[in-house]
Amino acid sequence: MFLDYDGTLTPIVKKPERAFMSEQTRNAVRELAMTFSTSIVTGRSCDKAKGFIQLDELHYAGSHGQDIQLNDGTDPFQPNSEYLPVIAEATERLKEAVREIKGASVENNKFCVSVHYREVRREKDKDLLKNIVMRTVTEEFPDLKVTNGKKVREVRPGAKFDKGDAVKYLLQQLTNKHSWDSSRILPIYIGDDKTDEDAFKVLSEEGGFGIRVCKWRKRTAAEYSLKNPSEVKEFLEKLVRWRREQDQV
Ligand SMILES: [Mg+2]
Repeated sequence: MFLDYDGTLTPIVKKPERAFMSEQTRNAVRELAMTFSTSIVTGRSCDKAKGFIQLDELHYAGSHGQDIQLNDGTDPFQPNSEYLPVIAEATERLKEAVREIKGASVENNKFCVSVHYREVRREKDKDLLKNIVMRTVTEEFPDLKVTNGKKVREVRPGAKFDKGDAVKYLLQQLTNKHSWDSSRILPIYIGDDKTDEDAFKVLSEEGGFGIRVCKWRKRTAAEYSLKNPSEVKEFLEKLVRWRREQDQV
C-alpha cells in the first residue's frame, strides 16, 4: 500500500503546519501497516511526515520520494542529495522574495521548497507570488524547477525523481527484502494531487492500480476514486477486515 499524506489521510487545511491526522485515521493506518506493507509517499520531508503520522511501522518516502527511509533502519536512499545546499539557499531567497505578500508561506521540505498560497486572499497577490517564484527560480537557480500543486508551488531539483520513481524503487526493495513473488503483489496507491499522477502511471505498469481522492470527476491515470480522506479511512479499514476474514477461511 502506498499512501500520500495531505489531502489523502488528512483534509487540506489553511495552515500546512497544522495538517494533523485524526486518531481514527492513525489507528486505521497502523492496522493497515500490520496487515500489508505500507509506505507513505509525500511532498513533505520525512521528518515532518513522521512527526504528523507517528507510526514506526511505515516506510516513508519524503520530499516527493527524494528521501526514502525503510522501517528497518537501513540508510536512507537520497538520489538527489547533491541538491541539499542549493535547496537551502533557494528557501532563504524565496522567503525574502515573497515576504511582502500577505498569507504566503515558504516551507523547506529538505529536497524541495514549498511556497504555499492557501492563505493568500487577493487574486492579484496569488499571481504575483506565482510570477516571483517562477522568475526567482529561472533567473537564480537554473538547476531547480517549479511544479504546481494544490495552492502551492513546489521548487524541486531539476533531475527527474518523482513519486513514480519512488514507488518503483520501494516495490523493488521490498520485493527483494521479503522475497515476494512479484506476480502475486497487488500494489495500490492512494493520492489526491497532480504529483500523484506519476505514481498512478507506474502502478498500472506494475500491475496495480491507483485511487484518486477527488470530489468531482478528474482527468487521471488512476482507475478508481474516493471522495475524501474519511472515505479513504473507511476503505483502509475495509481492506484490513477483508484480509482478516480471508485468513480465517
Ligand atoms: Mg496530497
